[in-house]
Amino acid sequence: MGKMPALWVTVLILSAAYFRLTAPICCTKESSRYTMCFSKLRTLANIASIYSEDADGMLPPKKWHQPMAAYLKKFHDERPDSAFTCPKVEGEGHVGGYAFNSALVGQQNPPDSLAASIPLFFETDVLGYDKTLSFASLLREGRHGPNRCAVFANGMWKGIPPHSNQ
Ligand SMILES: [Zn+2]
Repeated sequence: MGKMPALWVTVLILSAAYFRLTAPICCTKESSRYTMCFSKLRTLANIASIYSEDADGMLPPKKWHQPMAAYLKKFHDERPDSAFTCPKVEGEGHVGGYAFNSALVGQQNPPDSLAASIPLFFETDVLGYDKTLSFASLLREGRHGPNRCAVFANGMWKGIPPHSNQ
């Protein structure tokens, strides 16, 4: 007698402390994944740009994973394949989650005047490597918050808000 209330108080305090500790950890983790996702997409855009410089201005072909991974290996010696997988998808043990805009596959790198309005790589529900899809296949619900991650042909990244294609 007398010990039970004290135990319950301890349990309540501990669970309150647990929620206070885990809530920020969950959200900070997802926001850091959001940043990491953009960083990966920018890397893909940079590699596609370097690839095109060596290919008379032509962007990578339909099977883009292999040739781009070969370029990545030149610049990053560790885990080049990780660059091709959204951090959330990677955390779930899958690969990919990114699409190369099918409108640009094997095409001339768009001129600067158009590049800012043409998505180059973006998040998609379709997992695996070598996905070439139209921008309509942009992820429906954001993986790291409401916005979906995309990088444009000028190398700039953008969070695409829900219910919007731009
Ligand atoms: Zn992502």
